[in-house]
Amino acid sequence: MRAMAAQILDGTAIAARIRGEIAAEVKELTSQGVRPGLAAVLVGDDPASQVYVRNKVRGCKEVGIFSEGISLPAESTTEDVLSVVEALNARDEIDGILVQLPLPEQVDAKQVLYAVGPEKDVDGFHPLSVGNLQTKRLALVPCTPAGVIQILKRSGVEMRGAHAVVVGRSHIVGKPTAMLLLNEDATVTICHRYTPDLKHFTRDADILVTAVGRAGLITPEMVKPGATVIDVGINKLSSREQFERFFPPGSPERAKREAAFAKNGSVLVGDCDPRVMEVAGRFTPVPGGVGPLTIAMLLSNTVKAAKMRRGMLEPEPVGSWRD
Ligand code: NAD
Repeated sequence: MRAMAAQILDGTAIAARIRGEIAAEVKELTSQGVRPGLAAVLVGDDPASQVYVRNKVRGCKEVGIFSEGISLPAESTTEDVLSVVEALNARDEIDGILVQLPLPEQVDAKQVLYAVGPEKDVDGFHPLSVGNLQTKRLALVPCTPAGVIQILKRSGVEMRGAHAVVVGRSHIVGKPTAMLLLNEDATVTICHRYTPDLKHFTRDADILVTAVGRAGLITPEMVKPGATVIDVGINKLSSREQFERFFPPGSPERAKREAAFAKNGSVLVGDCDPRVMEVAGRFTPVPGGVGPLTIAMLLSNTVKAAKMRRGMLEPEPVGSWRD
């Protein structure tokens, strides 16, 4: 195997640039009397969800987007959440509505997500948004997949004609990422839990996107030398044994991660074995790769939704119906 150091694609820096661009656009729109607004709905008191919502609201403030966090008690019913969403659909100063997942068990998540007005669907989960993406119309695209494409574009990775392999086929990450890559003229293979011989496919990828949630699933032998690897997975290693297995002595990153593990008692890693970076040409780290792009794209979608709702964007780009 050829030993080389992959170029690290710095998601934090890319996201900061995008947020700067959004701030300038929000300033311009606000001066024209259009101030984009986002409402984030949180049901229950899951600590991780509370952090996510807080970060999203803070992200809005930083770029000048109006934002509102709405908290509902954990015992809320589907009807309770639906009535909040419907009230937000009717409010003119709200351009984007985000319902933080997961919702408590008694709440019908699908019913709630589909109740978000498609014109305010900044998560891009509504079937109309999915259809717009598929038909190459102007669409609100799910944030993490949109972030993957931004990393590729802004790092100069050629997608046209490349073989892109997406591991994972969720509605949130895998499928929309595959569709976006197809729209960028890549040849796309989608792999999932029932794909036999994953390596057979991943080994042929010029661009490998992995969105599974299994630490170390992708080993160096599964990666084509020089490939671009985008690791969307987020996994927590919280025992010494897991840490030792993932970062054995002599492995890249061990020294750096050792300090983080000692401090926090856990570390976040992606789906890729750290040795993948010795084979790949370009590589997104976890943390600091795709993660920071997700909020940046949520802000971008809020601005896009504000413009779409006011007819400021062309809904049917020229050539969208062509192959
Ligand atoms: P999910 O559980 O809905 O989907 C996982 C997918 O992986 C499924 O399609 C499944 O078929 C596939 N899969 C499972 N085992 C597999 C195997 N052995 N081989 C091949 N495919 C397999 O998860 P999701 O919501 O799509 O998220 C995927 C990962 O991305 C998670 O780790 C999640 O935490 C992370 N994530 C990160 C961000 C971010 O901002 N960076 C955002 C969303 C999700």
